[in-house]
Amino acid sequence: MRLVMASANPNKAAEIAELLTDHDIEPRPPGLGDILESEETLEGNARLKAATVCNNANVAAVADDTGLEVDALGGLPGVRSARYAGEDATDAANLSKLLQQMEHVEEVARTARFRTVAIVVLPGGSEFLSHGVVEGSICTTPRGEGGFGYDSVFVPHDGDGRTFAQMDAAEKHAISHRGRAFRSLAEKLR
Ligand code: IMP
Repeated sequence: MRLVMASANPNKAAEIAELLTDHDIEPRPPGLGDILESEETLEGNARLKAATVCNNANVAAVADDTGLEVDALGGLPGVRSARYAGEDATDAANLSKLLQQMEHVEEVARTARFRTVAIVVLPGGSEFLSHGVVEGSICTTPRGEGGFGYDSVFVPHDGDGRTFAQMDAAEKHAISHRGRAFRSLAEKLR
């Protein structure tokens, strides 16, 4: 299937392309500005991004919206994960705010999960949608050079104690929220 990438985040776009190898993924249309994530849910924002790009390109568009839910913070940053330290916040600023907010949270209470909604919207408005979740814990000091975003502090419970940033791409995809969401989406597209 021909799909236009709706995600403007190059790290996410690269992971999505690695996970949807059966499909012909085209780059996000140049000149299309940022899409304000104005919805209150991951599903709403994923749909908004894919539908906007689909309408612009008149080709089916693929998007994801991802949130990190930290139990000790009542589920924050959640749908606000990209803007946790403010509008236009960098990954480094978001990560630093997260660690600072969790400074006094003891190890057993540092549980969290990544949640991804993966979506393809087709011209005419029909859609395919899947969810992916990975449970884990937030460590106190970043570890690893790979990945992006909150990867260096997220230790998946299905792993061996390494953070996502200490894994190679294939190891992360095998157990990650995005891997799970897009493998399920690929099944539905098939
Ligand atoms: P969004 O889905 O583009 O809104 O991203 C939400 C936030 O979560 C951004 O700050 C991303 O850097 C971060 N993020 C998204 N996916 C991942 C991931 O796979 N690992 C770590 N951080 C992520």
